Amino acid sequence: MEHFDVAIIGLGPAGSALARQLSGTMRVLALDKKRQCGSDGFTKPCGGLLAPDAQRSFIRAGITLPVSVIANPQIFSVKTVDVAASLTRNYQRSYINVNRHAFDLWMKSLIPDDVQVHHDSLCQKIWREGDKWHLTFRADGQQQQATARYLVGADGANSLVRRHLYPDHQIRKYVAIQQWFAERHPVPFYSCIFDNDVTDCYSWSISKDGYFIFGGAYPMKDGQARFAALKEKMERFHFRFGEPLKSEKCTVLFPSRWADFVCGKENAFLIGEAAGFISASSLEGISYALDSAEILSEVFRQQAEDANRAYHKATRSLRIKLYGKILKSRALTSASSRKWIMRSGIAHVPLTYEEQPAIADGLVNL
Ligand SMILES: Cc1cc2nc3c(=O)[nH]c(=O)nc-3n(C[C@H](O)[C@H](O)[C@H](O)COP(=O)(O)OP(=O)(O)OC[C@H]3O[C@@H](n4cnc5c(N)ncnc54)[C@H](O)[C@@H]3O)c2cc1C
Repeated sequence: MEHFDVAIIGLGPAGSALARQLSGTMRVLALDKKRQCGSDGFTKPCGGLLAPDAQRSFIRAGITLPVSVIANPQIFSVKTVDVAASLTRNYQRSYINVNRHAFDLWMKSLIPDDVQVHHDSLCQKIWREGDKWHLTFRADGQQQQATARYLVGADGANSLVRRHLYPDHQIRKYVAIQQWFAERHPVPFYSCIFDNDVTDCYSWSISKDGYFIFGGAYPMKDGQARFAALKEKMERFHFRFGEPLKSEKCTVLFPSRWADFVCGKENAFLIGEAAGFISASSLEGISYALDSAEILSEVFRQQAEDANRAYHKATRSLRIKLYGKILKSRALTSASSRKWIMRSGIAHVPLTYEEQPAIADGLVNL
């Protein structure tokens, strides 16, 4: 059985960034259930918007984004809709619109060859024996085993590592549902939709490469019915759907208290969404995935005596920032404070109707 310094489970943005950063300094095994080629196999349902914090992480790493990953068009504002109050506002945003699957494959392609990567490989079981972590995984059509000093759970919302380390920990979860349609709006746009009758989280739409993607995060119980109800309501706001070309869903974590951020223990570590590192106010998580990977790689590089303690301490400011997002989400999902914020017009960028009739066609109640 091969032994490694570090075994990383999951190569989304968090795991891929960590594997890249540890290359050359430690013996690393990295497992990912996604395939390296093609669009079949696992793909992450995601809006694929890279926030400025994620862009900053690439600046620090000296990495530039290839055009093959970037989606069309780039949009500079988010149309925010309060359904009950019939209010629409435009807020400027500096996201980069990317093709999420292409982005994930590109991030994996940056991992140097000295890291032993298994694509299309599901980690089935983990356990601790003595001072080693043991893993069972499927790779190259057969079951394999390995051991590692450090185990890293970069395996997203349904993290096996998180469930193993904290079997009793409950974090709020929603079902994220997205449908893809042919784009039929006169001008592509992003939107963020609040409707407390449908969800106490929020819904969104994104225009990408000729598709109109409509989605939202809904309570687990009757998510599909709520999603269908909102689609019907949005026709009143001139959203155009047609036949869905693709439907996707997944679990999304919604941290709602300080204790929801968990960093790991016993030489096992959680990074990215597996740690609960996702913004409760926007469900933006790629930047926190990249930041937590960077922090953990630095902890390993410094060979801290108690690496768990060092990682916990080093993520403190990131966790405080995420706690701030929890507070922000409470203000945004409360009907009265949201209405007050939107009515105030702060940061709203009004459209010039006369000059842009096509844009105005897609809007109401400005
Ligand atoms: C619908 C939706 C829209 C979103 N939109 C945005 C957005 O626009 N911008 C943004 O910044 N964030 C967005 N997010 C959040 C973002 O997708 C996540 O926070 C981010 O992907 C977390 O990265 P990660 O690397 O921690 O986990 P993930 O991206 O979930 O990656 C985990 C990886 O682990 C692998 N894996 C899981 N289990 C195993 C296993 N047992 N064995 C082997 N491999 C395994 C999977 O292959 C997967 O690739 C969105 C989330 C959802 C649900």
